[in-house]
Amino acid sequence: MKVRTRFAPSPTGYLHVGGARTALFSWLYARKTGGKFILRIEDTDRERSTEASVDAILEGMEWLGLDYDEGPFYQTQRFDRYREVIQQLLDTGHAYYCDCTKERLAMLREEQMANKIKPRYDGCCCDKSLCATEGTVIRFKNPSEGDVVIDDLVKGRVVINNRELDDLIIERADGTPTYNLTVVVDDWDMKMTHVIRGDDHLNNTPRQINILKALGAELPIYAHVPMILGDDGKRLSKRHGAVSVMQYKEDGFLPEALINYLVRLSWSHGDQEIFSRQEMIELFDAVDINTSASAFNTEKLLWLNQHYIKNKEPKLLAELLLPFIRSAGFSTENGPDLLAVLAVFQERCNTLVELAEEIRFLYQDFDEYNAKQAKKQFKETTLPILESLKQQYSALDDWSAEAIHHVVENTVNTLEVGFGKVGQPLRLAVTGHGKSPSIDVTLELLGKEKTVSRIGQAIDFIQ
Ligand code: GLU
Repeated sequence: MKVRTRFAPSPTGYLHVGGARTALFSWLYARKTGGKFILRIEDTDRERSTEASVDAILEGMEWLGLDYDEGPFYQTQRFDRYREVIQQLLDTGHAYYCDCTKERLAMLREEQMANKIKPRYDGCCCDKSLCATEGTVIRFKNPSEGDVVIDDLVKGRVVINNRELDDLIIERADGTPTYNLTVVVDDWDMKMTHVIRGDDHLNNTPRQINILKALGAELPIYAHVPMILGDDGKRLSKRHGAVSVMQYKEDGFLPEALINYLVRLSWSHGDQEIFSRQEMIELFDAVDINTSASAFNTEKLLWLNQHYIKNKEPKLLAELLLPFIRSAGFSTENGPDLLAVLAVFQERCNTLVELAEEIRFLYQDFDEYNAKQAKKQFKETTLPILESLKQQYSALDDWSAEAIHHVVENTVNTLEVGFGKVGQPLRLAVTGHGKSPSIDVTLELLGKEKTVSRIGQAIDFIQ
């Protein structure tokens, strides 16, 4: 069997991390089995679907590297085909026109609720042999007996009795097909072998299976993936932080970190945490997807992001970092070589936003100091230390980490103070915030001229 999977988003917003994870699983399964991955845009809800959202989804998938082999197919371009299938269902007695009014349906519902019965359509028009008239809808004639059995790759066997399902509307009064009908027709026409999707669709599956059977179509294998929760156990939403894939890009995450995070969110392979794309493809199997929902853990995502930043080829990292430097409002033109800077700073940050912020002092002067740090480090007694450093650094010809370190040592010895009393004020003087790699490497990158002038500025500040 040639595996065919799909991602079928409704374009009513950005690409959500939950959607991205479903897409990733479908993609992985296709890649693993040498099958095909298809993108289908389910845009039949014309009021909520937007062009901008389609673009956002395509952009998100591209950023994550989830390439598709066929599509994007748009459901709005397939209305003729849906109509044809609805006609087939009518002709074979699997569907019927229904002219029940809103008022009747509301009354029926109330009655059922009062009798503590689950509200469902009672099949009133089923045997009336009505024709299409103004305001009629078309309903699928669900079997009234028997069970629908789903052997779900994730959930295991799920059995639903047909008595729990009612005759679902497949064409609205305005002639448009409904979700369950379009999905069925597409999964059938597009020859899907595996439907991997969020478990919020599990209750649609028996209905879709019944329609597929009525059409004489082969059934796909289903895998319903548990949803992603926030840290409070509720379904992940904006309240919990970023949920849009592209927001993670803007926040300075690497796509490989997000992908690695998402794959581990409800799938595991022993206790391995880091997976290259190739490893994921080789090791992934839908049957290993967890059955229970998993909670989004930003700390872990940050940890993975740090891992991927640390291991990124410096040249590529520099390219990725430049837009963040630009939006942080400085440029790397007048300052140390960015690659030399990255060699030192690359392993120190969780995100590209942080990285840009950490290296800012190498390229941009400042006239304020972190207030808390300044209070602690800049005292009257610091003055002679900084004066001495300034004088020695002005006179230093060999601007190497070694010589720079030697000056610090020399100051510690001559002024008979602890290392921290020299290193910390010096670090604050040159960075403004007091955070940096070892002081010799930091000053070597910053250069002699800037080092001396910043120590001078700190002296003025204390005075
Ligand atoms: N369009 C549906 C959604 O975005 C997915 C339908 C499906 O995967 O079958 O929730």
